[in-house]
Amino acid sequence: MKYYIKTFGCAANEADSERIASLYASRGFKRARSMKTADDVVINTCMIREKAENRVYGLVYNLSKEKERRRLLGKSLKIVVTGCMVGMATREKTGKMLSSIKKKMPSVDEFLPIEEVGFDFAPIRIDKKHAWVPISNGCNNFCTFCVVPFTRGREISRPYQDVLMECKELLDKKYTHITLVGQNVNCYGADLILGTENVHVLRDIEKPFFQASKHKDFQHIEFNGKSIKPTYVKHLGRLRIPTLFPELLTDICALKGLVELDFISSNPWDFSDELIETIAANKKISRHIHLPVQSGDNAMLRKMNRWYTREEYLELISKIKNQISNMTFSTDIIVGFCGETEEQFEHTFDLARTVGFSKAYVSMYSDRSMTAAHKVYTDDVPHAVKKKRWELLEEEINKTNIRNGTYR
Ligand code: SF4
Repeated sequence: MKYYIKTFGCAANEADSERIASLYASRGFKRARSMKTADDVVINTCMIREKAENRVYGLVYNLSKEKERRRLLGKSLKIVVTGCMVGMATREKTGKMLSSIKKKMPSVDEFLPIEEVGFDFAPIRIDKKHAWVPISNGCNNFCTFCVVPFTRGREISRPYQDVLMECKELLDKKYTHITLVGQNVNCYGADLILGTENVHVLRDIEKPFFQASKHKDFQHIEFNGKSIKPTYVKHLGRLRIPTLFPELLTDICALKGLVELDFISSNPWDFSDELIETIAANKKISRHIHLPVQSGDNAMLRKMNRWYTREEYLELISKIKNQISNMTFSTDIIVGFCGETEEQFEHTFDLARTVGFSKAYVSMYSDRSMTAAHKVYTDDVPHAVKKKRWELLEEEINKTNIRNGTYR
């Protein structure tokens, strides 16, 4: 029996697919070279934009034809759908969404929630030098345009020792490059320290919370049998959450055999001074950071529920550049978010020019149900305007870098 996995979306989905491959291998399946030769086709879905969702429906439709063709020959094809689409549908309490996707894709045999695969399966990786290592899953931030908190749920960090162990095993197998993956990697560990329940309700923490908790000393906590000083990330001058991310980077860098350590994605508001110092002190950490900005306009950022201003973002970039030489940055930008005016777009364009990104994932805003933006705002920027803005940024960032050989 053979399986084939088609992955849509981000690095987190790529990493999930490697664990799904392992699940299939444990059942005695072999990897098929193409869908044509597979007995089971698994589609790992993405819902970040409508286009990504429609590509899934299109693929399932084509596979249903193949399934019917095989049925007439007395053969079979199993279609499995997993990833964000299933995550969102199974989290929606009324069950309407699950019924709806089942109705839209009647040929699908199984809707597999990714949580059921778990982390017990050692991922099967095709690349023999570079490995994705998930360190957390889900997100607590609720940017108003984003479906991730609904598709993947609230943020849960993998146990610290499990992450370290996986990295060590990879390096023992002669892997040299590791990318840590999570929706917001730089707040890794907040739930391990505060407890999952608290991290879900607290958005800003204060000293009294700590004094009332088991970690009476605000500066040191007992973790993994040692006393460590967690990094506190700040937002608007207030302590937000403690993280173990700098600590984790330092411990991974100390492992033998590592050549380069990378991470994706980090959020500007959780990028602490300690994190910058950790990167500066460890040459093995990549000199390229992916730091999503989404917009360069303060009113847009507020509407998006992004917790920083244009000025704070630029200040962070300068701080990193001043402390670490040869640093390059890539980013995510959304154009045409609800109500975005020409002037607001120009602020984004200007910010892109000021930073000098080496690459950007520029996307035209796509209205997604369940998000706050869908409920509160109107997707009122015409498609032609979105496209024009997209083209301008593509030319300014990506095409120019490709021409100059600085695209990264
Ligand atoms: S930080 Fe915002 S954009 Fe990123 S996954 Fe979380 S909600 Fe989505």
